[in-house]
Amino acid sequence: NEGLGSWPARRARKTPHRPALIHGDTSADYATLYERTTRLAHALRARGVRRGDRIAYLGPNHPSYLETLFAAGTLGAVFVPLNIRLAGPEIAYQLADSGARALVYGPSYAGLVAGLPGSTDVRLYLEVGGEYEAAVAEASQEPVDEPVGADDTCIIMYTSGTTGRPKGAMLTHGNLTWNAVNVLVDTDLIADERALVSAPLFHTAGLNMLTLPVLLKGGTCVLVDAFDPEATFDLIERHRITFMFGVPTMFDQVARHPRWPGADLSSLRILTCGGSPVPTPLIAAYQERGLTFLQGYGMTEAAPGTLFLDAEHAVSKAGSAGVPHFFSDVRVVRPDLAPADVGEVGEIVVRGPHVMPGYWGLPEETAASFADGWFRSGDAAHVDEDGYVHIVDRIKDMIISGGENVYPAEIEDRLLAHPDIAECAVIGVPDDKWGEVPRAVVVPREGAVLDPDEVLASLAGRLAKYKIPKSVVLADELPRTASGKLLKSRVRTRYGKQ
Ligand code: AMP
Ligand code: MG
Repeated sequence: NEGLGSWPARRARKTPHRPALIHGDTSADYATLYERTTRLAHALRARGVRRGDRIAYLGPNHPSYLETLFAAGTLGAVFVPLNIRLAGPEIAYQLADSGARALVYGPSYAGLVAGLPGSTDVRLYLEVGGEYEAAVAEASQEPVDEPVGADDTCIIMYTSGTTGRPKGAMLTHGNLTWNAVNVLVDTDLIADERALVSAPLFHTAGLNMLTLPVLLKGGTCVLVDAFDPEATFDLIERHRITFMFGVPTMFDQVARHPRWPGADLSSLRILTCGGSPVPTPLIAAYQERGLTFLQGYGMTEAAPGTLFLDAEHAVSKAGSAGVPHFFSDVRVVRPDLAPADVGEVGEIVVRGPHVMPGYWGLPEETAASFADGWFRSGDAAHVDEDGYVHIVDRIKDMIISGGENVYPAEIEDRLLAHPDIAECAVIGVPDDKWGEVPRAVVVPREGAVLDPDEVLASLAGRLAKYKIPKSVVLADELPRTASGKLLKSRVRTRYGKQ
């Protein structure tokens, strides 16, 4: 077995007694992880799961998530993590679309699971803490020997769906392994790492930028059900956490928490931030405490690590998403795929052993998202004279105002520097004179009273006139995906009328 399913066995051979997973008051070493994963694989096989079958998982971060992933990999079955924030019909869609034969789910999801339509292919249900534990306890511990290769599909991971219906990105064992290798090459991750896994494992970053590289290296993952800033301080101090990954909103909540000034953060060594644009004021707030963000840019389809800004350049190139990971090739291109000039905005395309072979069951969408073997990200960026890539925005979110291209992310970054703005989104609204003009939708910080005119005045002189929003709308919150990405399409439907 050349796949992920062999990792627990290989780790148990080298470091059986090192702690692999900590959750609440329980801790499992690598020998235990291997034993439980093997037993679960036998249990699944005895219940009819075969090579190539899809096994879905629905639940918050928990050791059983990783046991199921590795057990699936052991059998050559395909793991399908489901987003716990989805509504019943959305979960039913992903179960049906992936043709899942088995569903492992956390106890709080029993009600949701009971209400799922009978039209899905699921014929095996294992509730964590219930049938799941019983199945693991009674199964054999004999090694499982299934041939699994690097090109076999390991996971179908649904993209967060900021555009249209979620598509299942098929990631092979090779894709996930190369991504983990890229993380190990490009960070100073060590075997003694103690990682705080509060980003959801059902999204690519929590699994692939944090958990899998740490487990490959033999470090320890502290799994947390859901991110909570207060608990984050407790966990950092209690476990002497060395490595954290988060999307910008998570790090922002930590930095604004009353415990931030007094907290002992001396154990932290590696902070990786990514998934959406990292606001420059946030980078500065951590820098003031001597904490440096490594910035990552990627996408589910690329498993996901694509660009990375390492510790050495984190300050001198702050605001850039860095250079390609070691085993990754990235270009910024014109619509005809010719490389853009230095400073010229183009589309990011990516190629490498970490890039998916395609979307599950969607040959046309797959063909449309590759050009000459390069995966088209749909993101706009430019490259500076040193080869560092600067993400501009999603191409689809671009506003054209009076013939000028306006990228909302730039305006949002300026707005976030305002002390009373917690969150914001800039969208285009129809305008008789300019075609489209930017509008800012802003969420005030708790207790703050925002004056739209004052907000606009704060941008004057800092942005070209045509980039300054023509209107400001106050909102209580913004629609986001579970991974913290703004759902621009929903902001547009709600606030985009002229
Ligand atoms: P997903 O397909 O859900 O994994 O989301 C991938 C998308 O997130 C990318 O195509 C980008 O639009 C966005 N993204 C990820 N990392 C960054 C980053 N560091 N800066 C800006 N946007 C990012
Ligand atoms: Mg995407």
